[in-house]
Amino acid sequence: MKRWLLIFGALLVIGVAVFLTTPPATKRRVEQVDCISRMYGTLCAAKLWSEDNGGRLPPDFISMTNELSWPKILFCPADHLHQPMTNWATFTANNCSYEIVTPGIYKTNTNVVFLRCKIHGYVGYSDGRVLDDSGKVLVKGRL
Ligand SMILES: [Zn+2]
Repeated sequence: MKRWLLIFGALLVIGVAVFLTTPPATKRRVEQVDCISRMYGTLCAAKLWSEDNGGRLPPDFISMTNELSWPKILFCPADHLHQPMTNWATFTANNCSYEIVTPGIYKTNTNVVFLRCKIHGYVGYSDGRVLDDSGKVLVKGRL
């Protein structure tokens, strides 16, 4: 429960900060900001998972069901090809908008992409950084 509150609080802070620093919101921009927040939340969950697993990040999303709590976080709001997952029983890698690029890397390995949005091409690192496909930093790592 405490872990979930930590993740939720971090998501809220990041989401509000990103939203307030952007021009007037369009639907596309709102989807981008939501995607970035979901990636950051997933990276937080992966780091929490690593604390109980020898410092390694998870090999897949199913391993993190206790840390993520909510499968919908793995659904990019700009993904119009799939339906959001409502529970873990319906989760598959094929209906997930994100992919783990390098499963099981050590959390100290901050120079290797861990997470990627299949829709936006954003990439996430174990330190919480999220970059767009041009390399622009969208979220500075602070995990
Ligand atoms: Zn996305």
